Amino acid sequence: MNEAQRIKKVVIAGGGTAGWMTGAALAKLMGKSIEVVLVESDEIGTVGVGEATIPTLHIFHRLLGLKEAEVMAATNATFKLGIAFENWHDVHKNYLHSFGYLGKDCWACGFQHFWLKGQQRGIAADIGDYCVEHLAARQGRFAVLPNQDLNHAYHMDASLYANYLRNIAQQHGLNRIEGKIARVKQHDHGDISGLVLQDGQHIDGDLFIDCTGFRALLIEQTLNTGFDDWSHWLPCDSAIAVQTKSVAPPLAYTRSIARQAGWQWRIPLQNRVGNGLVYCSKYLSDADARQTLVDNLEGDMLTEPRLIKFRTGTRRKHWQKNCIAIGLSSGFLEPLESTSIHLIQRSIIRLLQMFPAQGIQSADVAEFNRQTEIELLNIRDFIILHYKVTERTDTPFWRYCRSMQVPDSLAHRIALFQQSGKVYKFAQELFGESSWIQVMLGQGLQPAQYHPIVDAMSDDELASFLQQIQSNVQRSVAKYPSHQDFIRHYCQAV
Ligand code: FAD
Repeated sequence: MNEAQRIKKVVIAGGGTAGWMTGAALAKLMGKSIEVVLVESDEIGTVGVGEATIPTLHIFHRLLGLKEAEVMAATNATFKLGIAFENWHDVHKNYLHSFGYLGKDCWACGFQHFWLKGQQRGIAADIGDYCVEHLAARQGRFAVLPNQDLNHAYHMDASLYANYLRNIAQQHGLNRIEGKIARVKQHDHGDISGLVLQDGQHIDGDLFIDCTGFRALLIEQTLNTGFDDWSHWLPCDSAIAVQTKSVAPPLAYTRSIARQAGWQWRIPLQNRVGNGLVYCSKYLSDADARQTLVDNLEGDMLTEPRLIKFRTGTRRKHWQKNCIAIGLSSGFLEPLESTSIHLIQRSIIRLLQMFPAQGIQSADVAEFNRQTEIELLNIRDFIILHYKVTERTDTPFWRYCRSMQVPDSLAHRIALFQQSGKVYKFAQELFGESSWIQVMLGQGLQPAQYHPIVDAMSDDELASFLQQIQSNVQRSVAKYPSHQDFIRHYCQAV
């Protein structure tokens, strides 16, 4: 690595969600001190999916000074309060993973311990009844109120979002070049020196961001960084995506419906619905997958079903020499918990924090890679949890998932919850205790005991404690208008 070369020009290869998020952030926040160029190919296009997000996207929008209503209007977005998991625990057993916090904790233990005892005594309602976002999602209500903000994310049109960010990036001086990258040039020491386009243009630079999607043109095809395959834990390797007309007001949550060898998503936008089937080709042919999806659509198709092949896993390094991989080029975790755009945003923020203006330092590179890996491993475990903890035995795919070995880190968390009802969030981890609890209970994992401090309350005290929380949740949710009315009013005001 060339330690002291100042970074004056950044070249972003690729203009999908990853390329334009990176481009907008670099141009807006650093455009006065560096030159930013983005190359994209209209002929190749983008993956075109990736429409469900999680609440951390607020951080990115705040960083760019974007107004929520404006982003929503520009991307036909709806609000998202969680994900409904249907048929995951078992066929016809459903639950919701909401973005909210459950009940109230005490100094010694989490709310789930109070709820577990309440459940044993027959005095507790559904765990979701103790969470505002959960109830609001189920009742189709939403609002952004002062001091009572619901923890929310968005469903948004991926192409419109990329266009919106592209405008911001170009307003702040980013130079967009359309063309197909035919060759990547390297210095003798291996760093990338430039891109050569099919029309003969040379685009040289100091730092290169690989946003070329699954092709990973720079980080893998050029730098041979290596890939850790996780498909033994997450065996789905294909998806078919299609857009349909809306047939009902948009839900304030994503639907994830488990099928015979994978799962189907439904993502409601203001004007249409995004649908897809993620599946494992070992257990389901592409033709049968297409049929399964088409048989389970609600509105007329607006596009032709499109096949996408992928491999689950991670690039061994995300920053290698003078190249940083962001987006699908850095690896792939299936979209079960809508984490890819979050990971893009995390890499962008990390890049800004560690921006090597005075030259690339090996410690920065190592730290960037270390932090990225920790985040990825935690998300990976959370996603595997949904497959592993299931009572489904109806198909070979689900029997495989139920019996597969899982990473030790996840096996420990499952055992901890099962034995004692305990959940701990690790530093830098995306999903908090409420998320783990909702999914573990939802998938059918039942703790053997609750924390003994709960026994300090009599049954009457516990009943009134639970009742009070539930009433507060109901009172809060009753104040919200319908999700659809709120979106109309909110976006019209732009
Ligand atoms: P792409 O969109 O593939 O963009 C690659 C870019 O590189 C394009 O502009 C292309 O033209 C350019 N390019 C490639 N090669 C060349 C070349 N030779 N010359 C010039 N340009 C080139 N994420 C979520 O957060 N939520 C979701 O709900 C979600 N759902 C998903 C569902 C599926 C089935 C899949 C596969 C992914 C999903 N994702 C989701 C992930 C999400 O789609 C991606 O993280 C996001 O779209 C970013 O993609 P990208 O920009 O890295 O790649």
